[in-house]
Amino acid sequence: MSDQTPVNAAEIRAVLERNDSARLRTWLKTCTSCGLCSESCFFYLANDNNPEFMPQYKVRKTLGELIKRQGEVSREELEGMKEIAWGRCTMCRRCSQYCPFGIDIGLMINIARQCMRTQNVCPERLMNIDQSYVEFGNQMQIPDDEFVETCEWMAEEGQESINGLEIPIDKEDANIMSSRKPPWSCTWPARTGPCPATAGRPPTSPCSPATSRWPAWWPSPSTTRRSS
Ligand code: SF4
Ligand code: SF4
Repeated sequence: MSDQTPVNAAEIRAVLERNDSARLRTWLKTCTSCGLCSESCFFYLANDNNPEFMPQYKVRKTLGELIKRQGEVSREELEGMKEIAWGRCTMCRRCSQYCPFGIDIGLMINIARQCMRTQNVCPERLMNIDQSYVEFGNQMQIPDDEFVETCEWMAEEGQESINGLEIPIDKEDANIMSSRKPPWSCTWPARTGPCPATAGRPPTSPCSPATSRWPAWWPSPSTTRRSS
């Protein structure tokens, strides 16, 4: 459940001011909505060339609106922007390679996300991870028992490469520290739910299984984690 408190436009403006630069202003003025970058975006292609998935559209409807209205937007509008900024762009920056002016759409989406984050408008799972990281240093919010089980599993799997491999937990004076990698939420979709950008559509990448929550190349946890 997202926050329902009134939007604090001053906090959004503070983000905009922090990110204000000649480069950003130039990009915003330069984009002619020519659409040359559109076909480089997989969201656009995967959605039958729907103009609402064009890179420049996504920026205009998020950062563009926030700048134009200096953060004076409703929470409902921010929720709509959230769907665009997180659900229709991965900030991969591929489109900027195809823009004749080198306009960095991904970076602009990133600024829009920063604005929204000040208002607690952000995918809930990410906010939980944030909170978990700040409070406990557990950036992927993995429960203790699962963390231990994963270490055991990794040690078992690693025997082929490193004979006698052990992964002790909370070992003092250890030389090597292992923590869960950030893509965990991507390769562990059963824990995070289907990607909102691809839900209900045919798979376009290993992260977007349509019929199963598991990518075809990734076995289910029961077969992966308990195989020997
Ligand atoms: S940065 Fe966003 S808009 Fe550009 S290609 Fe990547 S996903 Fe598409
Ligand atoms: S970002 Fe560049 S390529 Fe894309 S619409 Fe704007 S000017 Fe055209």
